[in-house]
Amino acid sequence: MQQIQNFIDGANMPNSTGETFDVINPATGDVAYKVEVACEQIKEKAIASAKAGFETWRSMTGMERSRILLKAVALLRERNDELAEIEVRDTGKPWQEASVVDVVTGADSIEFFAGLAPAIEGNQQDLGGDFYYTRREPLGICAGIGAWNYPLQIACWKSAPALACGNAMIFKPSEETPLGAVKLAEIFIEAGVPSGVFNVVQGDGRIGEWLTTHSDIAKVSFTGEVGTGKKVMIGAASSLKDVTMELGGKSPLIIFDDADLDNAVSAALLGNFYTQGEICTNGTRVYVHDAVYDEFIKRVVARTKENVVLGDPMHPDTNVGALISKKHHQLVLNYIQKGKAEGAKLACGGQAAQPQNAPNGFFVEPTVFVDCDDDMTIVKEEIFGPVMSVLRFSEESDVIQRANNTHLGLAAGVFTQNIQRAHRVIHAMEAGICWINSYGLSPAEMPVGGYKQSGIGRENGVETLKHYTQLKAVYVGM
Ligand code: NAD
Repeated sequence: MQQIQNFIDGANMPNSTGETFDVINPATGDVAYKVEVACEQIKEKAIASAKAGFETWRSMTGMERSRILLKAVALLRERNDELAEIEVRDTGKPWQEASVVDVVTGADSIEFFAGLAPAIEGNQQDLGGDFYYTRREPLGICAGIGAWNYPLQIACWKSAPALACGNAMIFKPSEETPLGAVKLAEIFIEAGVPSGVFNVVQGDGRIGEWLTTHSDIAKVSFTGEVGTGKKVMIGAASSLKDVTMELGGKSPLIIFDDADLDNAVSAALLGNFYTQGEICTNGTRVYVHDAVYDEFIKRVVARTKENVVLGDPMHPDTNVGALISKKHHQLVLNYIQKGKAEGAKLACGGQAAQPQNAPNGFFVEPTVFVDCDDDMTIVKEEIFGPVMSVLRFSEESDVIQRANNTHLGLAAGVFTQNIQRAHRVIHAMEAGICWINSYGLSPAEMPVGGYKQSGIGRENGVETLKHYTQLKAVYVGM
């Protein structure tokens, strides 16, 4: 059986303990391959090689770094299908998606930041003879810790700004999906990124904790659950590390009576069932205006029933894949039970599924609950599965207040033809990523990140350069 190693100092490195963990293919329930856990020796080597890699990398010009990163972009695109297949096997998401989104959006982010690398600059100001100038310098060794839903994309989104700014990175993928990051590390080396600049350590939360508390690491960029994010911040406080936090959401999608209803239905389906609902920005609280409520439900349910092809994620027709693990599968089914018990009306779905071409996978039917209340568990908590909750509203001010009534603030969407209302409502949303008459698109140019407990800092967009550099001010006496 294939055994994956840690990737340190430009090469795969065997561990000295023989400790491994299994990676399960969510579509079959079988062990896909084994992964070696980072032992003490590997951890030490990761820090030492990142230190050395950082010194080489930071001394290169932005233009040199840019050229190398652009080669990595070309390699990622060349190997799109091979990498997408790894993502399908690790995550259970459909090939239909992974082959056109996951690698593409990862490569786009590296391309975006490669373009910015030579443009990172300080400024200067005259002080009446004397003057000062500023330098934007890299932070040092950054740790990246990833979630399992977009493994390769997350590794790209974290390494792209870090490396463009001249930092080194030690990346820990989720233990559910460890392979994509190793492939990225290999591609970086092939493109000419010096050894040690991007290392991959493997293991569970204990390896994550080691990264967050290590005093030689300057920053942690974390993607995962809110609760884990809080632990990471506590760990990072031990040496006052900078943090970027990309955490969970329970985002509102608000549909007014003048909305283009077919568009709004498409957005609700995409924002709830894409990647089996395992997307942090999903619009899982769908608030629909009274006047179009019944019609919306009719169309959403019809299209869910008509369009869903659930099954082997590698099959080209499949558009809903398997959930990440048996444990998560059970968790999602428990939420569905809770929804029913608390009085939400099940309009479609609601069952575990056993498709003929993948009978042992962790599948759940796309599920629509209607007539939901704001107090229900399924409306309040992030489910991270294909479960949509539809709620009724009649007043703009009321829906704004209800949409914001949560400790999370990752995303929000509004559908209306009234341009003033669209902007007014979006400006009132306590959310970092917003969409008007669209949902879910997030190009590399656009900053992403959450308000409230959904996050700290941003990924993608020019703003992110500030999160991977520190400012040095130099006073020059004349
Ligand atoms: P998780 O928090 O369980 O795990 C995330 C990572 O943290 C894993 O690599 C895990 O090994 C590691 N980890 C666990 N305990 C740790 C500790 N004490 N210290 C350091 N690291 C530790 O999250 P998950 O289940 O992998 O991912 C799902 C969650 O991620 C959802 O809540 C989702 O909303 C969120 N997410 C957010 C974004 C975003 O951009 N905002 C994107 C994708 C996923």
